[in-house]
Amino acid sequence: AATPSVTVIGLGPMGRAMVGAFLDAGHRVTVWNRTAAKADDLVARGAERAATVEEALAANELVVLSLTDYDALYAILGPATAALPGRVLVNLSSDTPARAREAAEWAARHGAVHLTGGVQVPPSGIGNPESSTFYSGPEDVFEAHRPTLEVLTGADYRGADPGLAALFYQLQMDIFWTTMTSFVHATAVARRNGISAEEFLPYASSTAASVPGFLAFYAPRLDARRYEGDVDNLAMGLASVEHILHTTEDAGVDTTLPATVRDFMRRAVERGRAGESFISLVEEFAPSAA
Ligand code: NDP
Repeated sequence: AATPSVTVIGLGPMGRAMVGAFLDAGHRVTVWNRTAAKADDLVARGAERAATVEEALAANELVVLSLTDYDALYAILGPATAALPGRVLVNLSSDTPARAREAAEWAARHGAVHLTGGVQVPPSGIGNPESSTFYSGPEDVFEAHRPTLEVLTGADYRGADPGLAALFYQLQMDIFWTTMTSFVHATAVARRNGISAEEFLPYASSTAASVPGFLAFYAPRLDARRYEGDVDNLAMGLASVEHILHTTEDAGVDTTLPATVRDFMRRAVERGRAGESFISLVEEFAPSAA
C-alpha cells in the first residue's frame, strides 16, 4: 500500500507528534504506551489502541519506538519477544552507539531487524520534511521503509553499522550542549554586568553565525593533520581565553567552563604547541599514534 500501517510504541512528546504525523498522512496507526491514558486523544484522532505490547507488535511489520532510552526498550519488549519475529523495529530513542549495536544483535536473536534512528528536531519539527533524522542498519530494510519514515522527517541514512545513527546524533549533541552552555555562561557574565540576554542576543547570534565559516576552513586541515599557526596560534588562543577567564572571575561568575578550555590550551602550549593552531587540541583529546 502507498500508506502502509505502522505501530508506534512510546507516547512521550516525540511519539505523540509522530503518531499525529502518520495519521495526518493517512497511515493507519496502532499505538501502545506504558501509561495507557496518553493514547486517549490519539485514539480520538483515529489511532488504534493495542491492549498489550504483543498486540501492538502483531499489528504491523513496521514498529516505531520512541522511548526515553534503550533500557525502556528492553523493559517493554523483553517480556514480549515471542511477537518479535519478522518485525522491523525503528528505534528513535536516543542512546550510545554501543547500546544501538547491542540492541541490533538482541533484535536479530529474536528474529527482528533493528534500525537505529537519531531524530535531530524537537516534537514541533516532526512532520516537516526539512527536519532530519539519522538512520543506520541494513540498507535494504531501511530503503523499503524510507517513504513511510519520511512522513516524520527527512531521512539521512548513514550506513549499515547500527551504531552510526547514534554516533552522528551524539556528535551533533556534543556541539549542541557545549555551545548552548557557553551561551548561557556568557549570558551569566552579561547579567552580572547589568546586560540582559535580549541585549546580548544579536551579538551572540552573529558569533554563532560566523562558526560555519571557521568549521569549513579548519575541517580539511584537521583531516590532513595540518596544525600550522598561519592564521591563529595557541599562544594567542591561550591569552584570549585567559582574558575570558578573568572577565568571568571579575563578574563573580563560575569559571569552570573557561578554565577547562584554558587548561587544554595551557597543556598544549606546555607540550610545545604554542606556535600551532588551536585545532592541534585534537591531539590533546585524541593523540595520533606516534
Ligand atoms: P520521553 O522521555 O518523554 O519519552 C518517554 C516515553 O518512554 C514514554 O512513552 C514513557 O512511558 C516511555 N518510557 C520511559 N521509560 C520506560 C520504561 N521503563 N518502561 C516503559 N516505558 C518507558 O521522551 P520524548 O518523547 O521527549 O523523546 C523520546 C526520545 O526521543 C528520547 O530518547 C529523546 O532523547 C529523543 N529526542 C527527543 C527530543 C525532544 O525534543 N523531546 C528531540 C530529539 C530526540 P510513560 O508515558 O508510561 O512514562
